[in-house]
Amino acid sequence: MSAEKTIPATLIPGDGIGPEIMDAVTEILDAVGAPFAWDKQLAGMAAVEATGNPLPPQTIDSIRHTGLALKSPLTTPVGGGFKSINVTLRQEFGLYANLRPTRTFVPGGRFDKIDLVLVRENLEGYYAAMESYIPVGDDPHGIATGAGYNSRAECNRIVRFAFEYAVKHGRKKVTLVHKANILKLLTGLFLEEGRKVAKEYEGRVECNERIVDACAMQLVIDPWQYDVIVTTNLFGDILSDLTAGLVGGLGMAPGANIGEKAAVFEAVHGSAPDIAGKNLANPLALLLAANMMLEHVGRDDLSKRIESGIRAVITKRELLTRDLGGNNGTREFTAALKQHLV
Ligand code: NAD
Repeated sequence: MSAEKTIPATLIPGDGIGPEIMDAVTEILDAVGAPFAWDKQLAGMAAVEATGNPLPPQTIDSIRHTGLALKSPLTTPVGGGFKSINVTLRQEFGLYANLRPTRTFVPGGRFDKIDLVLVRENLEGYYAAMESYIPVGDDPHGIATGAGYNSRAECNRIVRFAFEYAVKHGRKKVTLVHKANILKLLTGLFLEEGRKVAKEYEGRVECNERIVDACAMQLVIDPWQYDVIVTTNLFGDILSDLTAGLVGGLGMAPGANIGEKAAVFEAVHGSAPDIAGKNLANPLALLLAANMMLEHVGRDDLSKRIESGIRAVITKRELLTRDLGGNNGTREFTAALKQHLV
């Protein structure tokens, strides 16, 4: 019996390894009867090649209509070229919260039993990328400058999101991560609002503070002390790759970009051009993102089935993809995972 596809959702196959891992993920979602009725749309280099536009209006219209998207990684040209589509999507749909859970799936590693969540502010900070050159002598690019901004309203909203997430998911502690000792205004404002919001949750959720460099060190020495971390855009970008590294690398790291009217789910990793088209990519990060999407629409029953399958297959090392120490290609791993779904 085929499951009813009642929830419209946009699907973006992406660039590089994107289409391969998206095929794997939709195969698993179909196997558990996920309710998504996909509207397939292009973005990134694939869209440039097909339409000349990295973010075609049809893709934006589709997300506006569905309010829900599963997106594979997109290639962003370094230096010149078009602006990151990921950043554009966040701004277009006001996806202010970037949620990145980190959990140990492969037991017995250096960092066992990790279970923490990083909440990153997604719209402001240094990602505003207000950059310019100042000429020095004959060199028009003698000095490069960059500025960022954080608004009181957004700082308040992101910290509130982190505390609400903690309450909803039974988490005990939120850590405000900042650099207010040096960037006294830019991240001082974040800390000021964070402390204000934390007071409202006193007695329900504990709150502490860390300077970002100390946090990076402690995440490596004793990551178990963290529960929910909330921080500004660039710090969150860097720390979430660090936390991914604790649990097997980027191949295991999902992310959700959440706004008032839309949510976009994705893998934290990029389009991995070095292994694209070689049947080597690990689809688990995108699959875990799809699981977050299932939970977002209230289908925790299905996400739990997929998670049990992942936990069952992951104990058999040889079945995994090469980045996790196995011998399987993307397609063979997906077939093995399907066998382990209950
Ligand atoms: P990357 O994450 O694509 O690759 C880094 C390393 O990790 C590579 O060695 C790659 O082979 C490996 N890797 C990544 N994902 C993997 C997976 N699922 N399975 C196995 N190995 C995996 O980072 P990069 O090389 O710096 O970036 C490549 C492109 O991706 C760039 O154009 C960048 O802008 C873009 N990017 C996109 C996103 C996104 O769309 N969300 C995020 C990051 C980078």
